[in-house]
Amino acid sequence: MTRLPDPSQKTADESEEERVSRLLTGLSAMAILFLVGIGAKAWFVAHTTHAGALWFFAALVAINMLVFARNGNRQQQKVGMIAIVGLLFGYLIITGGESNTGPLWFYVFPPLLFYLTDLKTGTAVLLFCYLLAAVVFQFPELPLVTAEYTTDFKIRFFATLTFESIFCFVLEASRLKARNELMNLAQAHEHAARTDDLTGLSNRRDMQHRLGEEYSRYQRSGHHFSIALIDLDLFKRINDEYGHDAGDEVLRRFSELMQAVIRQTDIAARWGGEEFLILLPDTSLLQALTLAERLRSEVANTEFIFAGQRLPVTISAGICSIAKAGSVDELLKQADIHLYNAKEDGRDRIAPRVRTTTKGQASPRTSA
Ligand code: GH3
Ligand code: MG
Ligand code: MG
Repeated sequence: MTRLPDPSQKTADESEEERVSRLLTGLSAMAILFLVGIGAKAWFVAHTTHAGALWFFAALVAINMLVFARNGNRQQQKVGMIAIVGLLFGYLIITGGESNTGPLWFYVFPPLLFYLTDLKTGTAVLLFCYLLAAVVFQFPELPLVTAEYTTDFKIRFFATLTFESIFCFVLEASRLKARNELMNLAQAHEHAARTDDLTGLSNRRDMQHRLGEEYSRYQRSGHHFSIALIDLDLFKRINDEYGHDAGDEVLRRFSELMQAVIRQTDIAARWGGEEFLILLPDTSLLQALTLAERLRSEVANTEFIFAGQRLPVTISAGICSIAKAGSVDELLKQADIHLYNAKEDGRDRIAPRVRTTTKGQASPRTSA
């Protein structure tokens, strides 16, 4: 059976990215407010260079927001924000900001970094920033470095920042672990809700969903499709004579055989009890009849052995193409009528019957 890609993982990742993006937009707006405000305060106390630098960073954040608004590239928005914040913190450590309090802003970085990037990248960027801060602290005479910090401040700054970084790392790691566990659980539930336990095929609910999707595709782009409704013949007798376990084994073996016969793009489902339904995309009625006939003959020629006994297994099937029906319900109804006819005609057969014309061409015998 062919399984379509599971959309749940993609959706979860996308909504997480969307959340991150929204948070970034909010944080950017806040950062602009703070930078403009603190810059204005510096301006009024005649720290014009510092004011200019803060406004410059406010402009960078605003540009990053505008670029994101134009191109919607979340990855670029993230990288842009981390680069600007990294540069800003570098500037604050080098100059000390107002009254040497600039490095305090650094505490914002670890949680932001771990939230925006993965643990490896976050740790690498943080270590790089640590190294930079250590160089600035160690060599205050370097060009551009205008701040000087006391030894006590440096020790406490590094110690507290290290604690904070470790906590952020641990919290983010456990958040990611819980998130992954939850997503795996959701996926397992989603899979269980779509799958038949005994055969591992799609269940009726999943097939109904796929039929709806295929019908929409047909309405949109005119791609024809057909279905084969298959019923195991006199299955009750197998249960009665050989036991329920033998019946179960036949259902499993038949499912495997059916999957081996159908194409990659076809979808087989357990429709209920000993009834199965195959959805055949891009398939005409005639092609569907040919496939069903191949499956029927394969089943008839296969030995189903259980506990050393050969079980009499044959199938009957009703086929219908969407070209002969106006809706999915109608399609199922027509296939059911054909299945009934196949049973009435003596079982181990496919309906409608294929007839060969005088010119040697095959065509379905009935109009449906
Ligand atoms: P027909 O050829 O007319 O379809 O005859 P049938 O005996 O196959 O049809 P009927 O509807 O009388 O019986 C179907 C049987 O399938 C009855 C039910 O116990 C059995 N069945 C349904 N689901 C399962 C299952 O999961 N395992 C087993 N072993 N039997 C099942
Ligand atoms: Mg049956
Ligand atoms: Mg039945």
